[in-house]
Amino acid sequence: MTSPALLLDATLPDGSAVDVHLADGRITALTPVSARPPHTGAPGAVRLDGALLLPALVDGHAHLDKTFLGAPWQPHRATDGLRAQIASERALRHEVARLAPVAERAEALARRMASLGTGHVRSHVDVDPDTGLDHLHALLEVRERVRDVIGVQLVAFPQSGVVASPGVADLLDAALREGAELIGGLDPAGFDGDVDGQLDIVFGLAGRHGAGVDIHLHDGGPVGASQLRDIADRTAALGLAGRVAVSHAYALGGLDADELHTTARKLAEAGVAIMTNGPSRSMPPVKLLHEYGVRVFAGSDNIRDAWWPYGTGDMLERATIIGLQGELMTDRELLLAADLVTTHAAAALGLSDYGLAPGAPADLVAVAAGSVPEAVAAHPERLLVLHGGRTLLDRTPGAR
Ligand SMILES: [Zn+2]
Repeated sequence: MTSPALLLDATLPDGSAVDVHLADGRITALTPVSARPPHTGAPGAVRLDGALLLPALVDGHAHLDKTFLGAPWQPHRATDGLRAQIASERALRHEVARLAPVAERAEALARRMASLGTGHVRSHVDVDPDTGLDHLHALLEVRERVRDVIGVQLVAFPQSGVVASPGVADLLDAALREGAELIGGLDPAGFDGDVDGQLDIVFGLAGRHGAGVDIHLHDGGPVGASQLRDIADRTAALGLAGRVAVSHAYALGGLDADELHTTARKLAEAGVAIMTNGPSRSMPPVKLLHEYGVRVFAGSDNIRDAWWPYGTGDMLERATIIGLQGELMTDRELLLAADLVTTHAAAALGLSDYGLAPGAPADLVAVAAGSVPEAVAAHPERLLVLHGGRTLLDRTPGAR
């Protein structure tokens, strides 16, 4: 892999035209194009010819261990409801593992994400009585193997519930000891039927291990909303602001104005982030939550697995999907859609070393667009992807 020292004529998200100087895997300087004589080729320079340069895309929610990518196409098996789908997945994952092991498929997906400019991914990993810690062990290995191309953060995810599934609390504890950075959860009311029971375990483990929290919450209506407020209360009480996320939070898409107002304010004050992947029964109102000060970020969620036959791992395409679903139309709104897959997701993942500034890691992606709104609207071709300054993909004019 090469490591360019200079990217010529990049367009930054604010519209400015700069040359980007790189050394030792980091950005060392951004200098205005207007400040130098026109030229096309210092040695080691890559010409961007005005292409938009973004910090690496961030996928805030994936399931690397679930994907069928890397195995032959699996027709989707629809079932009736969450429990039946979980049971169906359990049967199917054994069949698919015989075709291609979890680690092989997870690595294929991680590398595909990296080639599309995603520099960091938060992956939930199933921890349940059936697989125990097998998937975690596979993903810990994959994380090491792909370290040079993408950063992987792991959430111990109780796909078969916590209270409802004897032994899972101990497995989650072990998963955090063995290298998962976050503790997950699943519909404390709708799945476990015991909101305090599940949240006591999840937040108890978070406290004991100093782990972050990211809970799948599909429960809708007032039942979902009251759990969001419970999670906000616990986050505030434990001083976990900025380290707790709720994924999906469909309830927010179906509340009356008063309850939405109360719930959104609580989430904002407590520092609980909301992850959306877009298409859903009731997507959270992205613009409104942002106006309330809630950190909203985006993820792919399922990519070609037992839950969902769709998905490419392209986070710019994800911004397009969320923009369409959330009716984000103006340039300002399209900028917000881009934030969901860049700065907001980076903040939700706690990536302190992120951005387009001198000193930041050279985790960068250039796309065939002249502006951020255009990139969100069209999710165009990636021209250049760098991770830690090393070239993962180069389709710039000089490389052709
Ligand atoms: Zn998920």
